[in-house]
Amino acid sequence: MKKNNRHFSKKAVQQRARINNVERTPAQHREKNFAKVNGGVFVYSKPLSVAELSEAINVPVPNIIKFLFMQGKAVTINQMLDDEMIGTICLEFGYDFKKEKIVDEAHFEEIEIDDDPSTLVERPPVVTVMGHVDHGKTSIIDAIRQSNVAGGEAGGISQAIGAYQKEHNGKKITIIDTPGHAAFTAMRARGASVTDIVVLVVAADDGVMPQTLEAIDHAKAAKSEIIVAINKMDKPGANPRKVKEELLAHDVIAEEYGGDVLMVECSAKTKDGLNDLLDAILLKAEMMELKANPNRYAIGTVLEANLDKGEGPKATLLVQNGTLNAGDFVVVGDIYGKIRRMVSENGGVLKTAGPSTPVSVTGLSAVPAAGDRFMAFPSEKQAKEIAEKRALEKLEKTRSGTSAMSLSDLNSLVTAGQVEDINVIVKADTDGSAEALKASLEKLSEDNVKVKVISASAGAISDNDVMLASASHALIYGFNVRPDARIKALAEEQGVEIRLHRIIYELLDEMKAAIKGKYKAEVVEQVTGQAEVRHIYKITHVGTVAGSYVTSGLLKNGEKVRLLRDGAIVYEGVLESLKRFKDDVKEVKEGYECGLKIASFNDVKEGDIVEGYEMVEKQ
Ligand code: GDP
Repeated sequence: MKKNNRHFSKKAVQQRARINNVERTPAQHREKNFAKVNGGVFVYSKPLSVAELSEAINVPVPNIIKFLFMQGKAVTINQMLDDEMIGTICLEFGYDFKKEKIVDEAHFEEIEIDDDPSTLVERPPVVTVMGHVDHGKTSIIDAIRQSNVAGGEAGGISQAIGAYQKEHNGKKITIIDTPGHAAFTAMRARGASVTDIVVLVVAADDGVMPQTLEAIDHAKAAKSEIIVAINKMDKPGANPRKVKEELLAHDVIAEEYGGDVLMVECSAKTKDGLNDLLDAILLKAEMMELKANPNRYAIGTVLEANLDKGEGPKATLLVQNGTLNAGDFVVVGDIYGKIRRMVSENGGVLKTAGPSTPVSVTGLSAVPAAGDRFMAFPSEKQAKEIAEKRALEKLEKTRSGTSAMSLSDLNSLVTAGQVEDINVIVKADTDGSAEALKASLEKLSEDNVKVKVISASAGAISDNDVMLASASHALIYGFNVRPDARIKALAEEQGVEIRLHRIIYELLDEMKAAIKGKYKAEVVEQVTGQAEVRHIYKITHVGTVAGSYVTSGLLKNGEKVRLLRDGAIVYEGVLESLKRFKDDVKEVKEGYECGLKIASFNDVKEGDIVEGYEMVEKQ
């Protein structure tokens, strides 16, 4: 051990700590926690006590305590040391030091990339264009793209891959090709957020419309920056001032009104103002200081994917950090593969693709889903192992149900102190009641739990509401509106809870209870249907089977039933078996005959009524 009397400032220690804070994955180093000296460098992975550090670097405990005391820090032998203290002690006693983070690469979307700032370089902003139908989203995307191609000839741009890069003033901008919020939300619902800047297109002659507001909600929920393109300025009725005022009312505030949202007047038709729009995007990007480290394994998101007849599974990937190389082994969602062919939006073959670059790749073992995350790995073996682990975890997750938020979930999370914001979407019969509910719900916020109404509007509950709820873990409150069967099914599929109310105070009481962690779902009985018993069959070893005819609704196997005779309840139990002819069936509908058996009950008689019912959460 060498004695070293150099003095290290706090900043110097922090800087060294950052440089040495390399990621080490379990596959590379299966030991979970370690602390040892290796070639003059002390390598450790978790906080240590004075005693543990003393043993690991072979410096007596009193020496460490004395040194810290001289630094103005009184510590005891079992006290845990923070990284800065460990670093200072190591340098004092002649060791370099390195903390190695353990990351589970199977959950690579959760890896927090904390690269040394000196390794970071500027990356192009990723832009999505949104807005009301017919306001000119596609025209703007195309107009910008066409000016890419020399002479504006359209032929060279036919190779659409879901995103393209535009060069402007020597800098690149990545533009996602599919306009509209369906793709955007579907992606966010899968936990992927790829967009830095949303260009909100508003037609100057039409102003703010319902989908403009939806787009604002989406952009805000995703924490993307908004730039407004006031389009169709060439039209006689263009009124940009009115657009700005309408946006002001929805908290999208132009600079001249004291806000920080850049608004650009343009025309996709005449191309006027499109350069200003690109300038604004670059300006915003500069303010956002978008950076990435090109010298790491690539990590990013699938923008779209399909099965190509000739080339097999094909995916457009957006590299978000690192560099993707042809020949890299990648895990995409829960499949893996080797990047065989990588092409740019113009069809040019690429060897490498840096941060914010969209590329189309082949070589995957199956077609991934849009919104799936991907990461490159050093070996095929590792990629395969990780893909298998992820597939298994996905299966387990599907089995255990969805992870979306319900009022009951919320309740337990609040009780456990694990939730700070309750996201809510309000749909009401009128604008007035939507606004009133928004204000009243937000007023219920307490210090530890806030109610955030991420969207409040009048009208029926739509696909868009469900997707926004799914992406933002929000509940939907319907006030004097009811979802149709299709929306109900979509909500169920997405795991979104829709709560319906007709009385304001009941709605508010329910939310109040949830905030306090005291919400109790009120369960009510719901009759599914009735059947009339027409024949009795006594079957040895089975018991009494009632040949019946379903007179209303339906009966479901396994549900609760009660037996009615002359209007009185004779027995309550469970439907143990339900058959159509010889086959076991899950349910039998009105107008059909069936054979049924009630568990542990054989005293059924002709003319009895079997009523099936379920207990459901009260709406
Ligand atoms: P999207 O539904 O938002 O993608 O809108 P489109 O780009 O399809 O445009 C809708 C209609 O508006 C088309 O007929 C376009 O030609 C027209 N349009 C788009 N931008 C402009 C513009 O700047 N000026 C004029 N006059 N028409 C435009």
